[in-house]
Amino acid sequence: SAARFPWLEGRARLTPAKTAVVEAGTGLRLTYAELNRRVGRLAAWMQQNGIAPGDRVALLAPNSAAYLELLFAAGRTGAVFVPLNYRFSDKELAYVLEDCSPKLLVCSDRYAEAGEKLQARVPITLSQHEYKAVVERGQESCRPVSADAEAPWAIIYTGGTTGKSKGVILSHRAILWNAINTAASWGLTDEDVTPVYLPMFHTGGLNALTMPVLYMGGTAVIGDQFHPGTVLGVLERERCTIALFVPTMHHMLIESTEFSDYIPSTMHTFLSGGAPCPHNIYAAYAAKGLQFKEGYGMTEAGPNNFYIHPDLARVKVGSVGVPMLHNEISIVDEFGAEMPPGATGEILIRGPHLFSGYWNNPAATQEALQDGWLHTGDLGRRDADGCHYIVGRKKDMIITGGENVYPLEVEHILAAHPAVSEAVVIGVPHPKWGEVVTAAIVPQSGAQLTVEALKAFCAEHLARYKVPKSFFFLSQLPMTPVGKIDKKQLVVLCSEIA
Ligand code: ATP
Ligand code: MG
Repeated sequence: SAARFPWLEGRARLTPAKTAVVEAGTGLRLTYAELNRRVGRLAAWMQQNGIAPGDRVALLAPNSAAYLELLFAAGRTGAVFVPLNYRFSDKELAYVLEDCSPKLLVCSDRYAEAGEKLQARVPITLSQHEYKAVVERGQESCRPVSADAEAPWAIIYTGGTTGKSKGVILSHRAILWNAINTAASWGLTDEDVTPVYLPMFHTGGLNALTMPVLYMGGTAVIGDQFHPGTVLGVLERERCTIALFVPTMHHMLIESTEFSDYIPSTMHTFLSGGAPCPHNIYAAYAAKGLQFKEGYGMTEAGPNNFYIHPDLARVKVGSVGVPMLHNEISIVDEFGAEMPPGATGEILIRGPHLFSGYWNNPAATQEALQDGWLHTGDLGRRDADGCHYIVGRKKDMIITGGENVYPLEVEHILAAHPAVSEAVVIGVPHPKWGEVVTAAIVPQSGAQLTVEALKAFCAEHLARYKVPKSFFFLSQLPMTPVGKIDKKQLVVLCSEIA
């Protein structure tokens, strides 16, 4: 089969002087030629230190150029890149290291303390200082390895929203095809500049836009902490064009005072993904004359899977659109039969951007990958025009007194109440009903809210069994390490209060 794709070497030939990577915080700026040279030094060092094809190389660092350097150096030597979740506890990190047993750990100063505790589990560690010496002054020549396109290039751990994070094996083929699919479907060019504020240990920060933009010869501006004012400043200063954030970040951004004064100049598109997007966010960007689109993705599939034209996104609020160029989507019932338009079923995905399996977990792989189709565990439907809507996770569906309730439908109604800032709907175990529909509400600051008013508001729009039976008012919602609402924790919290 085909060899791996030396795409950074290609970029260094085609667009050597273009800026590939910027670190917004440190001011580091690398052209494609410079990035390629640093990757070459790192790859040579890895070979000299006995890192062989198939070996895992791990990184524990805040968002930084090192993610891309280590990823490309791993690709060049046939090693497998494993970015570690820096928000994990020592125990969680130890589990991941046990699971993927890396030969090398690169550890930044910020996480040195956590890194030290992991050193016993890794043969070689590189401090930030040592790493810097290698990429800046190391010897450049590495022996190119002719890895197979199907060889693993990275193991990215899932968000851990529904349980323990699973290691997703992504081949050279899968990462390349996500880049091709995304660039072609979304119309990315070498003019595109994207800020990277999603964590780069997660598919959202690494694979969703960063790799496709670099594939096209554009620029990734790497940010660290998400503060609305800083982010808007970076968008202007670095002449960014397209940005992907999770809904929580969009929420913070549009609520900020800086956003009300923000006059976009070079930005053309804001994207949301990773979790359901409240509909008021669409309107906030439209009011600034900006394109806003919602995408649907997952670590196992690209992550990107859909395309929606901005004009259509304005009309069909909440839709993720049609399948991308080299991608098939099927919506099926519990027996695997294709569902007609309008009906809700499980989303299945097929295409060259799919993962190869879960690391060390053949049972989970077998369950997820059947006859070439990825069974996502997510529910969706399509309308008569072929536009798709994400309905939510199968696991989150509430069964109350034998009736199915999709939390997202109720969340969208609650969020439309003027005194509600954020709303989450969960099923809390109940001896009589199985589960009861329960809402956690973050009120708008200063707003007066009563349970009766919320119930009456829901009853205007929803069948009675869908109206939440109990409400909890919180000042903020529990979040997972990648910025998604942590429903597992919320169920525990609400069960305890109740
Ligand atoms: P884990 O698999 O460990 O439980 P996770 O599923 O959150 O974590 P990711 O791969 O980061 O890990 O997230 C993919 C999931 O995010 C999808 O399966 C889907 O449930 C959710 N998601 C992504 N985009 C959207 C969207 N636009 N609307 C609703 N849900 C979305
Ligand atoms: Mg998942």
